[in-house]
Amino acid sequence: MKENFLGIDICSMTYKEITDSIFKRIDENKKSFIVAINPEKIMKAQEDRDLHKLLNKADYQIPDGVGVLIASRLKGGNIRERVTGIDMMMTLCREAEQLGKSVFLYGAKPGIADEAKVKLEEMFPRLLVAGTLNGYEKDEAVIKQTINEANPDIIFVALGSPAQEYWIVNHMPHLAPKVYQGVGGSFDVISGRIKRAPALFQRFGMEWLYRLLKEPWRWKRQVILPMFLIKAMKGK
Ligand code: UDP
Repeated sequence: MKENFLGIDICSMTYKEITDSIFKRIDENKKSFIVAINPEKIMKAQEDRDLHKLLNKADYQIPDGVGVLIASRLKGGNIRERVTGIDMMMTLCREAEQLGKSVFLYGAKPGIADEAKVKLEEMFPRLLVAGTLNGYEKDEAVIKQTINEANPDIIFVALGSPAQEYWIVNHMPHLAPKVYQGVGGSFDVISGRIKRAPALFQRFGMEWLYRLLKEPWRWKRQVILPMFLIKAMKGK
């Protein structure tokens, strides 16, 4: 159930299919690593062998970004729906609440993960949030102990990309959680510190336009999309 764009695997599964598959793996005692893929990461991986390997190491590469949908359509693939990092996280929280599994929030500035925890508990009243840790704690022993003592089923890692993905592959073998998802700036959004694009922009896959209007200096990051599409069409 994967497609490949310029050497990077991407899952062609829906939120539900990914969620079912992940919770089945929890029951089978298998660990899972979820990474959100967008054209920017694929292009970066073209020049960075380590990043390339890292992205393909994930069990689930979710198609976060319209660029990937366009490329899939142009190449005759099946990816029709975005699976965004933050919505994947929400879907996992909803299922965890139903099935009595626990989550842990690791990352973002001091206090933010705690605020995100409060918001998540409002949204999912029976969700077990086993603990939080800010992303600026650098003592490895403290990090490991805090996470393992909380012993969650799922950990959301919000250290920014690709730092969070490197952190996940390096720590996964030594930690208790079964599921590891890199979620970038999601805690800032969930806590309410940063606003997400209005629903209309989201619905039409135009979050990039909203961000461009609000933060015009990001344009440089956005010329990557047409470059990616041209390359993906020519590519292998
Ligand atoms: N961050 C962190 N520890 C660090 C550096 C960054 O916890 O050492 C957090 C930062 O506070 C922010 C997130 O990582 O919450 C990065 O968010 P951004 O939107 O830049 O992530 P992206 O998805 O763009 O990589």
